Amino acid sequence: MEKHLSADAILLRAVSYGEGNRIFTCFGREEGKFSAVARGVRKPKSKLKGHLQLGNRCDLQLVRGRGLPTIASAQAKETYPANRENADRYFYMSYFLELLNDFVPEDQPDPTLFDLLDGALKELSATEPALLARFFELRLLTLSGYAPDFGTCALCGAPLRNGFFGPRAAGLTCGRCGGGFEVPPKALFALKYLVSAEIGLVRRLKVDEATLELLAAVTRRLIETSLEKKVKSLDILKQLRP
Ligand SMILES: [Zn+2]
Repeated sequence: MEKHLSADAILLRAVSYGEGNRIFTCFGREEGKFSAVARGVRKPKSKLKGHLQLGNRCDLQLVRGRGLPTIASAQAKETYPANRENADRYFYMSYFLELLNDFVPEDQPDPTLFDLLDGALKELSATEPALLARFFELRLLTLSGYAPDFGTCALCGAPLRNGFFGPRAAGLTCGRCGGGFEVPPKALFALKYLVSAEIGLVRRLKVDEATLELLAAVTRRLIETSLEKKVKSLDILKQLRP
């Protein structure tokens, strides 16, 4: 039996499918991540085409029958136009969409994560993109249950004045436990600021180029470690199933 549904969703990913169709990975505010087919969307006269652009926030009308739901109509209500005028912002927009897609399991509603993505896509035009990306990564980690602690050593619990970040570290360590590269106090301050700031205040943080690179190295490592864990946990789950 067919069921008609509507969703307020941001389009995370698209792959071509069959003749003129596309399968979209959508992140619905109330539905979580789901896939849906847009039929004929690659044909020149498609009415859906203009609305179904990656990174758009759309009101979708869906028809659910057997298999994947079909997008019957779409109305873009937010296109974040400033992100498409500039190659740098476009790159970061794509990165936000992909990263969120990697972190979020299907069919798990998470309006807070939705609002984070929506907010980040809006804020890209007003904030240094690389700094906003670090904020986005840290918030994504926190909301996904991998909250980094930049106040104490991950191994001995001592308070940190400066930190060290080793190749297998799950967090920062102190000088005694340390190893890896050093995270000096000003980078540590920036990480603490980013982990707790409101999104609109990220732009107030002033950091030099070297600190920005260091922040990127720290968050990249944290993201990789948490995604690895995620993949491993999925593998274990699969093994447990008969
Ligand atoms: Zn320590």
